[in-house]
Amino acid sequence: MSEKLISYSSPIMGIRMQSSLDIKVLSSVKQFKEWRRSLPAAGRDGKPLLGLVPTMGALHAGHLQLIRNAVQECAYTAVSIFVNPLQFGPNEDFAKYPRPLEKDLELCREAGVHAVFNPSPQEFYGDDPAKTTRVTPPLELLARLDGVYRPGHFEGVATVVTKLFGTIEPTCAYFGQKDYQQLTIIQRMVQDLNVPLSVVPVATVRESDGLALSSRNVYLDERQRAVAPELYKSLCAVRDRSLSGKSIREVELQEKSRLQALGFDVQYIEACDVSTLQQIAQANKPMVILVAAKLGDVRLIDNLIVA
Ligand code: AMP
Repeated sequence: MSEKLISYSSPIMGIRMQSSLDIKVLSSVKQFKEWRRSLPAAGRDGKPLLGLVPTMGALHAGHLQLIRNAVQECAYTAVSIFVNPLQFGPNEDFAKYPRPLEKDLELCREAGVHAVFNPSPQEFYGDDPAKTTRVTPPLELLARLDGVYRPGHFEGVATVVTKLFGTIEPTCAYFGQKDYQQLTIIQRMVQDLNVPLSVVPVATVRESDGLALSSRNVYLDERQRAVAPELYKSLCAVRDRSLSGKSIREVELQEKSRLQALGFDVQYIEACDVSTLQQIAQANKPMVILVAAKLGDVRLIDNLIVA
């Protein structure tokens, strides 16, 4: 079993140190399954045995919140770092997606992660990812919101998550509410296919100005970064004005126009049912308000759950 040595800076010593510590960095399915078999049958003190945090890397404080929850709640924590070719469209950013692996591994080690699964696309899918068996989420969830603007995306997500579940066999899998439609689709898939694990949602982590953290925020130039928090303000405005009795459709349209005037190319801003994601005609609790908009080439998504 190959283990990478990870070098890191000790905040105490202020010098570079070399340590294998406990973290395992495993890049093949076979290696991962060997590590998985080495774990005990159950966690101690009734803790779930293995928490999984699936990511595409370029880890930020949002990912780290998922990881912290998993480390706290489970006996062992695994993080997958895999930029999944199946979930990118032909004109999307698969090739240029950031891949700062050494930094990510250091963050995982510091957070107390036990194992990182980091396969190459070839290791995970073989020579031609397009030929793999695919998992298709239900049409009613696929035909909405991001499913309209990113054809094939959620099929790619459901497929890779199913493969990760089969490889890692987690007890709990942690997903961010930042990607609300993705979370809903995975919860539904786990329920429909009787996948034996618990999906654990984690609240969205934001910058102090309200912008939801995302690996894609690094693409924003200074001007775009300054205007990006307006998305969150619009979500709050739809919530507040619709709950105070204004027509929800009218408020959505007003916020869409306001964002467009600020330079956003708005794809949708809609209040939806929290489980079916169908658009709602009247403000309700619970509801979820979702937005997707582009600033130049950078596509941003966000949402607000009103419980
Ligand atoms: P990604 O690397 O973009 O595939 O994201 C991996 C996981 O981190 C997904 O479950 C995301 O929903 C979650 N995530 C990404 N950004 C945030 C955030 N700002 N707050 C909470 N979770 C997040």
